[in-house]
Amino acid sequence: MHNHLLIKDKKRSGPIIKEMHITPIAITDPPLLNAAGIHAPYALRTVLELVTDDGISGISEIPGNSDIDQALEYSRSLVIGSDPYHLNQLNHSLEAHFSQETASERGDAPWDQRKLVHVFSALEVACLDIIGKLQNRPIVDLLGGKMRDTVPFAAYLFFKYEGAGGVLEKGKDPQATGWAAARQEEAIDPNGIVAQARAMCHAFGFKSIKLKGGAFEPRLETDCMLALYEEFGEAVPLRFDPNAIWKPETALKYGLEMEGILEYLEDPVRGQENMAQLKKKLKTPLATNMCTTSFEEIPRSIQLGSEDIILSDHHFWGGLRASMELSRMCRTFGRGLSMHSNSHLGISLAAMVHLGAALPEVPYALDTHYPWQSEDVIIGGRLPIVDGSVAVPEGPGLGVELDRSSLQTLHENYLACGIKKRDDEAEMRKYHPEWVFQKVRW
Ligand SMILES: [Mg+2]
Repeated sequence: MHNHLLIKDKKRSGPIIKEMHITPIAITDPPLLNAAGIHAPYALRTVLELVTDDGISGISEIPGNSDIDQALEYSRSLVIGSDPYHLNQLNHSLEAHFSQETASERGDAPWDQRKLVHVFSALEVACLDIIGKLQNRPIVDLLGGKMRDTVPFAAYLFFKYEGAGGVLEKGKDPQATGWAAARQEEAIDPNGIVAQARAMCHAFGFKSIKLKGGAFEPRLETDCMLALYEEFGEAVPLRFDPNAIWKPETALKYGLEMEGILEYLEDPVRGQENMAQLKKKLKTPLATNMCTTSFEEIPRSIQLGSEDIILSDHHFWGGLRASMELSRMCRTFGRGLSMHSNSHLGISLAAMVHLGAALPEVPYALDTHYPWQSEDVIIGGRLPIVDGSVAVPEGPGLGVELDRSSLQTLHENYLACGIKKRDDEAEMRKYHPEWVFQKVRW
């Protein structure tokens, strides 16, 4: 029976993936501060393009580094010749291909589950883009259909030094106006953060605000949140994310101080146990993209009660369909669901919007770094954020097409900038030579 099915399958004249193009790119990124250091003048992304025997192209974008590019390259033999509809089989083959045995044959360390989900998410989104084009349907329809036409995002504030990143590095573009000028300003205290929030909300209409913390001592960062609350009041939900750099006693002290002004507190402490302990003492909901980051970590999260909200990310949870599965799991176990982001361009944003439109509910505006980026790789330029939301792109598949000339330019940036993986700590040493990353600092 099994053989019979295989033979039947071989006779089928379905689409077959014939080409796979992996293009690392470097995008201009301002000097944004965080617990791990500071963003380099360029952030890395990898653009994947799959092309079928009928010439249908599907694209995706993932956080880039040379390891991931190599892992994608390593999947090539499985991808070429496969049917873009057969995603379950592809995932299964990838798991087997990346297993310990294969790794030891190559003499490498085994690839962990994280790399696998990352690679699969790139392949899945590109295949869904192809399937959408074949069916003349947007990806949101492949996820069960639209629950909303536009998807809300939050203003994502950062402590930052002055500068634009990219070729300007630590300098500013004197010609810039509006948000393009505001995004180059220094923000290292409550006044700077409130000014950044005003400029970003004015430019994009965001109705929720998140501040990335962990860069300065807790007193100063808490004062910034209090200043934002004074400026925006209860009408604008506020979130704060110190990236697990606080000791439990610090998180309790400042968590209590911010009680009542936060929509949620994101990763105040490190690890599921510490989060669970803190959660018992604070009324403010706790969110995470650090302590519960994979399906493997869900059982322990439920057992301990380590967070209220999971910030998913299709790049890290194994794609869009896996993220839909996560949403059901979150509903089952009483977790809220929202979305985490890294520096990204429009292909990732389009995928996030299709997913955001398909989710049963979006109780919290999603995170995006998009306003911090100035370039794009999609035809027609950057996707507009209007009233804090992004409309589901029109057209089949992702609804965005690769701008090959921009892709070439950004690939040349990658070759020229010399960065092969993200290293915020090394970048920070260019400003402060003695600086050392600490998992828990305050
Ligand atoms: Mg976070």
